[in-house]
Amino acid sequence: MIGSARFRTHACADVVDARDERVRVSGWVHRRRDHGGGVFIDLRDRSGLLQLVFHPDGEFADAHAAAGSLSPEDVICVEGQVVERSAATVNPALATGTVELRADRLEVLAEADPLPFSVEDESQEASEELRLTHRYLDIRRAKRLGALELRARVVRAMRRVLDDEGFLDVETPVLTRSSPEGARDFLVPSRMQQGSFYALPQSPQLFKQILMVGGIERYYQVVRCFRDEDLRADRQPEFTQLDIEASFVEPADIQDLVEAILRASFAEAGQTLPERFPAITYADAMRRFGTDRPDLRFGMEIQDWTTQASSSGFGVFEGAIGAGGVVRGLVVPQAGAAVSRKVGDELMAEARELGAKGLVWAAVEADGSLRSPVAKFLGSLAADFSAEPGDLIAMVADAEPVAQSVLGTLRTRFAERNGLIPEGVWAPVWVVDFPLVEWNDDEGRWEALHHPFTSPRSEDLARLEDDPAGVLSLAYDIVLNGLEIGGGSIRIHDRDVQRRVFSLIGLSDEEAEGKFGFLLEALKLGAPPHGGIALGLDRLVMLLAGERSIRDVIAFPKTATGADPLSGAPSPVDDAQLRDLGIAVRTPPAPANG
Ligand code: ASP
Repeated sequence: MIGSARFRTHACADVVDARDERVRVSGWVHRRRDHGGGVFIDLRDRSGLLQLVFHPDGEFADAHAAAGSLSPEDVICVEGQVVERSAATVNPALATGTVELRADRLEVLAEADPLPFSVEDESQEASEELRLTHRYLDIRRAKRLGALELRARVVRAMRRVLDDEGFLDVETPVLTRSSPEGARDFLVPSRMQQGSFYALPQSPQLFKQILMVGGIERYYQVVRCFRDEDLRADRQPEFTQLDIEASFVEPADIQDLVEAILRASFAEAGQTLPERFPAITYADAMRRFGTDRPDLRFGMEIQDWTTQASSSGFGVFEGAIGAGGVVRGLVVPQAGAAVSRKVGDELMAEARELGAKGLVWAAVEADGSLRSPVAKFLGSLAADFSAEPGDLIAMVADAEPVAQSVLGTLRTRFAERNGLIPEGVWAPVWVVDFPLVEWNDDEGRWEALHHPFTSPRSEDLARLEDDPAGVLSLAYDIVLNGLEIGGGSIRIHDRDVQRRVFSLIGLSDEEAEGKFGFLLEALKLGAPPHGGIALGLDRLVMLLAGERSIRDVIAFPKTATGADPLSGAPSPVDDAQLRDLGIAVRTPPAPANG
């Protein structure tokens, strides 16, 4: 560990190899215990913990006296002799538990005031607001430090794979041009061209494609991206991607590379991924799992009962089918007995909240018969769904997209609630054959399912204008345990195709020229076939660290309102700063840290 001998000859963890030597160590007072025989301190540095003993007598007296008044998290420098602990005092819970440092010199380098929350006792709950305000204390805790160390190792492993494959780490601008496609841009006002703005990049997409036109052939970057979205769930306004692009490639080349990168990353956490990742088409994923991010750690696939339901005599089913809808359902193994009428009503309410008109449930009894408020309409349902005695069947009758998405969500919820997700299993899957575009009803136009630079399959090009919904793209997403951890595609490298796609999504030639003229120009001047992907680093490390929030694997994350409680960002600025930029604020600034 780096450090001057003025402060340390050893890191705490290394003292275990310095038996009988005289050493000097520096760090934080993790824990202090005073006994009649002496003061015991667990000293902590980044490498770990070391027990210091301060005896009260002789040459040790001064240090002992000083140690008695130390507070948690004081920073100290200590010198002394490393001694082997007696068998009775060995602490197997500590990596350095076979030795201790008999301290005869103590220097206090910095004192710590009483702490807002304990560093040492990680079981002591502190609100996230408090932990973020004093993030340095939170980072001293072993769990947070461990996550940051893992993150650094994962990035190193990723870089190693890419460097070995001849990829070049190239930086792209942070101050760039606004081209809002997906999310809202963060804008930065230009002082020198007042009234004009830079945007912070949502991704380096265009620059990495231009690097391919520039002959770089293999590019990567561990890069911060910015999206000004309302922070639903577990999103951050700035997040990190491993961004990759390569020339003269097909989807399998990028997929093989990503599998190697993920394997190396998982190895850093002592985890093993399956030898080959399976692939599923978007259509199959939607049909079988009701989502394009299927969690393949468990089955419970969605099954169709529309044909049987159409002659069931049950008005709800027949009505939905008559309106062009479907009747679909899924089997939850051994969850039937727990479902009473009351629980059934709760399930119904839950399905309504998710957007369905309702939910029909049936429990399979020991004799194979069905227990359900509408059992008489369900005929051969149990046999049709291969349900076993004890199982629960949940059905939704609705327009197909509604039925699928509601059942898709219920599938994961049922699995979580009923403990049907196996522990310690990694189930990666490539989702492929996405549609190129989808219809946006609100805006009354087609929009790109990934981004408008994604290439259609060449065999679908002819129908781009006449049957846009039928055009599949060369996009691929990598999904792990139901979370999308990356997505990419082969790009359009032909200027005419790019123009046609722009026009399909409602960008006129002038608009396309205005926003993406530089790309179109580059595509005219010798653009190689190319493609790539971006992996979400935060989410990946979150999974590997076994954390539930990406905030736990980011050193300085923002809260759900996009604030940084540590620095107080965002904050109002001086009038003088605004004047320089030619900017007047129309609404008074909201209170800081809102
Ligand atoms: N730029 C894309 C994204 O950020 C990923 C890619 O297509 O490479 O989602």
